[in-house]
Amino acid sequence: MNGTVIAGTNNLFTVECADDVIRNCTIKGKVIKTDKEFYNPIAPGDIVEVEPDPINDDKGQITSLDERKNTFLRWNVKGRCPQLLASNLDYLILVTTPDEPPFRPRFTDRALAQAEHQGITPIIVCNKWDLAEKMQNTDRQKEFEEIEKRLSIWEDLGYKVLRISAKTGEGMIQFAELLEDHLCAFVGQSGVGKSSLINVMDNSCVLKTGSLSKKYGRGNHTTTKGTLIHLTLNESLMEGVQGRKANIIDTPGIR
Ligand code: GDP
Repeated sequence: MNGTVIAGTNNLFTVECADDVIRNCTIKGKVIKTDKEFYNPIAPGDIVEVEPDPINDDKGQITSLDERKNTFLRWNVKGRCPQLLASNLDYLILVTTPDEPPFRPRFTDRALAQAEHQGITPIIVCNKWDLAEKMQNTDRQKEFEEIEKRLSIWEDLGYKVLRISAKTGEGMIQFAELLEDHLCAFVGQSGVGKSSLINVMDNSCVLKTGSLSKKYGRGNHTTTKGTLIHLTLNESLMEGVQGRKANIIDTPGIR
């Protein structure tokens, strides 16, 4: 039976199987063959074949790994090899802000390079756009124009750029529609509003504001593992329709 990996440590993986049962799985045999040497063999988002345990139905063994559409990696310093953070992403959501924290285009440029290199479609989200609007027609007008200029350069290169606000809701409908039925990971400096954006999209979501930023903090970068989370999109963003879904992988991201 096939299944999607939703979380995992080095040798125990949580797999959501095709029969809707979530099973804790080990890997059958020693290694799953991949073409590269990764720090971890399997990541959230991977599609695997599972042999359910005949006695404990909540257990199983992973017997094979389906070919990946793409992999989101980062260099694992300790292991001196690439570490898989997520597989099969439809989009990498690069979250940035005009202010608080200050606009850092180089972070986004690096993440764009990584997304292109790994074959994942990036979407640039400039959150806290309410703060950009406050800059207009003040002594920060020039700063605002610089930000707009850089966002337009990315747009001219063909990237989708959203100017949105988790606080006021501006642009959130368009963002939720983009994410619907897709699998994404969010990257961005701490404090740019990643958890806030997710909470606006799904107000029953377990992520607390600031929780991602804590995880993204320096220090525990190498230990945090990703988890695939199903979001139920807030009906107010979906023309009143309930039960629309989006999937995200809460990864430790990239620096
Ligand atoms: P994360 O570290 O990227 O997950 O960021 P958080 O979601 O924890 O947000 C950091 C801070 O920014 C919190 O105090 C949020 O209330 C605030 N914030 C998030 N989105 C917005 C926004 O659109 N506008 C404004 N003004 N503040 C926001």
